[in-house]
Amino acid sequence: MNTKDSKYKRCSHCSSEIRSGAGVCPYCHESQGGSYIKWIITVTIISLAIVVGYVFLRFNP
Ligand SMILES: [Zn+2]
Repeated sequence: MNTKDSKYKRCSHCSSEIRSGAGVCPYCHESQGGSYIKWIITVTIISLAIVVGYVFLRFNP
């Protein structure tokens, strides 16, 4: 038992333990890449929420 977290990660789809360098999960064959895409989506959602909140407050005093 010498499992290191740095060498293995959890599949973001089926939570199976896979190699951290693996681009595709060997169990469910889902792509593990796109961490930056997830980041872009998060930033987009946050900025959208800020804009919507600003507009909502501006037109509802
Ligand atoms: Zn998987």
